[in-house]
Amino acid sequence: MDEQEYFVRLESTASNPEDLFEHFEQRSTADRTYHALPSARHGIERGTVVIEDTIVRGYPKIPRVLVLNVGVPSFFEQELAIEEKLDGVNVRIADIGEPLAFTRSGYVCPYTTARARELLDPAAFFREHPEKTLCAELVGPETPYTTHDYDDIDSHTFRVFDIRHRESGRPLPVTDRRELCAAYEFPQPRLFGWYEPREAIEGAREATTELNRKDREGIVMKTLNGEQMAKYTTESQHHEELAYGFSLPFDRGRDFVFSRLVREAFQAAEFEDDDDQLRKRAQRMGEAILLPMVETIRNTADEQAVGERFTVRGTPQQIDALFEHLYDQSLTLDVQDDRREDGERIVEFVKVAESTRDQIQYYLEEGIHRE
Ligand code: ATP
Repeated sequence: MDEQEYFVRLESTASNPEDLFEHFEQRSTADRTYHALPSARHGIERGTVVIEDTIVRGYPKIPRVLVLNVGVPSFFEQELAIEEKLDGVNVRIADIGEPLAFTRSGYVCPYTTARARELLDPAAFFREHPEKTLCAELVGPETPYTTHDYDDIDSHTFRVFDIRHRESGRPLPVTDRRELCAAYEFPQPRLFGWYEPREAIEGAREATTELNRKDREGIVMKTLNGEQMAKYTTESQHHEELAYGFSLPFDRGRDFVFSRLVREAFQAAEFEDDDDQLRKRAQRMGEAILLPMVETIRNTADEQAVGERFTVRGTPQQIDALFEHLYDQSLTLDVQDDRREDGERIVEFVKVAESTRDQIQYYLEEGIHRE
C-alpha cells in the first residue's frame, strides 16, 4: 500500500502517514488483501477500508439524544426527517470489481456479501454509480450478528438507510437517496415525515411511542442534506439491551449496562408524568435485568452453552465461508444444530461468552465473592 498516496486521499487529522497507518490492520478474504481501521482515529471513521486502489469510508457514529425537549432543537436548526432506526447490523456494500459487504469494523463478511448480492441485486446500481456505497441494516432472526425479531421478517433482509460517496463518505440528501433506492427497488426504513425542529419534538415522541408499542428500536433524525443525524430509542429497546447485557454479565461490561440505564432514566423522566406508570415501568425494567441473569446462572449450573444464540441459513459453501470467517476472529462457537432444508444448510450456534461462563461456574462452585 502506498501510504503517502492514501494518507492524502483520506484527509485525516494525523500529522504523517505513519501516525495514521499504525492503527490499520492487514486482513485478507478469499484472494484479496486489504487494510482496515478497527476503531476511529485521527478523524477517520471506524471500519474504513483500503482495498486495492479503493477507499471505503466507515459509517459515522450517530450521536444520541437523551432529552427530546432540549436535544432536538439544540441539535437541529433546520428542517429534519425522521426515519425508523432498525435493529440489525450495519453493512456497507461497495463495488470493488464486484459487490463486497463490509461489517461495521471493516471486515469483508462472505456470508453478508452473498446475501447482499442475492437480496439487493446491486449490479445495475453499481454500473451507474460505481463510486457510491450502499449503507444498509441487515435485519431479521437469521443472521450471524443480530437476533432482533420483526413480525414481518422470517429469515433476514436488508434496509438501505443511506447512500454515500465511497471515498469521501459524503451522504446523498435524504430525498435523493430515497428516490434512488425506490428506483432500484432497495427496501428502505420507514419515513415518518419532515418536521421543523420545534414540531419534531412531538413528531419524535409520537414515532417513538408507536414504535415502542410494536417492540421496535427507535428513530434517526436527519437534516435534509443527510449530513447531521441523531438517534433516539424506545423503552422496549432499552429493556431488550439490558436483558441482553445482564444475560452475559461478565462479558458485556459495566459501561454497556450503565449507558442503557441512563437512556431509560432520562426517557422515563420525560415521558412518565403519572407515578403509577413510572412504577410499572420500573418493574418492567427490573424484570429485564434480573430474569435473564438468573436464567444464565441456571443454564450454567445445568452445563448448557452460555452466550448469544444465532441461526444462519445459506448454501453449504456460504455457511463454510461464514464459519471460517467467525473462527478467524477467535470466537468460541458451540454448534447446536446443523441441518438441510430444500438444499439450504441451516446452522444454530452459540457464540460462547467465556468470561460469563467461567465466572459464574467459579461462584457456583466456591459460593464466595471476595471484593
Ligand atoms: P456504533 O458504534 O456501531 O455506531 P452504536 O451502538 O453506537 O454503534 P447504534 O445504536 O447501533 O450505534 O446506532 C447507529 C446505527 O443504526 C447505524 O450505524 C446504522 O447501522 C443503524 N441504523 C438503523 N436504521 C438506521 C437509519 N434509518 N438511519 C441511520 N442509521 C440506521
